Amino acid sequence: MPFQPPLPRAYAALSREALDERISSVRAAMGRRLVILGHHYQQDDVIRHADFTGDSLKLSRLAAAQADAEYVVFCGVHFMAESADILTRDEVAVILPDLSAGCSMADMAAIDQLEEAWERLEAATDATIVPITYVNSSAAVKAFCGRRGGACCTSSNARRVLEYALTLGEKVLFVPDQHLGRNTACAMGYDPAAMVLYDPAAPAGGLTDDQIERAKFILWKGHCSVHQLFTEAHCDAVRAADPECRILVHPECRREVVLKADLTGSTEAIIRILEEAPDGSHWAVGTEANLVNRLIRLHAGRKHIRSLAGLQCLCTTMYRIDLPHLAWALDELAAGRVVNRISVDPRTRHDARIALQRMLDHADGPPAAG
Ligand code: SF4
Repeated sequence: MPFQPPLPRAYAALSREALDERISSVRAAMGRRLVILGHHYQQDDVIRHADFTGDSLKLSRLAAAQADAEYVVFCGVHFMAESADILTRDEVAVILPDLSAGCSMADMAAIDQLEEAWERLEAATDATIVPITYVNSSAAVKAFCGRRGGACCTSSNARRVLEYALTLGEKVLFVPDQHLGRNTACAMGYDPAAMVLYDPAAPAGGLTDDQIERAKFILWKGHCSVHQLFTEAHCDAVRAADPECRILVHPECRREVVLKADLTGSTEAIIRILEEAPDGSHWAVGTEANLVNRLIRLHAGRKHIRSLAGLQCLCTTMYRIDLPHLAWALDELAAGRVVNRISVDPRTRHDARIALQRMLDHADGPPAAG
């Protein structure tokens, strides 16, 4: 993970109002030259300053559409800023206010592990394997997929991308989120028996040649440390306490949780489903805490929304982007200094862009998992 040096001490002494004021004044001075993108999992203090908010897919499209911007400040995590750098013009500087804002899931698939896995799989079968990476992965992993006829996907379009992949080859290697891969393949009608789990830490991936030969989907052993916190017991407790309550979860949750839920949807789908839900309805939502708390406030007095888990399932790396870091990055910009620029090397950028473009080309379709 890149090192984030401590901020100048003055920022720790600034009040929330003073930080807000600094951020607003830089935004006003820079006008359309500056665009701030905010992921839905960001804290409220930060999201208030975003020009656009969204999930990974929406923000990738928005980054690609910025015609006038010279600077894109990405309030999200490292892989998202890399995707923005890949999709924007060369002249656009993409800035991540805190370099230590990474993603534990993306870190579970290192490029050397993926290259080793690919050799292992190719040695085990003559079938054509199409590598698909969830967008929550490094630029190097995306580039690997782009070079080998594969693509990226998000939780919004995973199903559509997997359907596309199976028109190109007989098997899919899905990296790095086993749960999204499994939930999506099951929603497409495949039996879990058609899936095997590749463990990058185990000798030979923990699979025999025969298991690889028989599998339709080879799922990488990775997960989101936030969504993996939701359990079947949480679903049972909600049902026992409130039989009227509908359970809505993200497809990064385990299969057992998805099976107990009433509905599964990407971040954007969760927002839409709750928007369209009738007044008086009851919901327990299994996704990141900042988003759930925002939805609770947004629908307060009309819809009864709560987190599926009693505990706060917070993305702690996303949480590193806070007001002081945002104010600091913008102050530096106003002083003519670009800090924390995320820059992907040209070759990786070229190949990763192919994979991202295939993702954008398959952006609309049926839900990721059901
Ligand atoms: S919520 Fe999970 S997948 Fe999303 S950025 Fe945080 S750790 Fe990564």
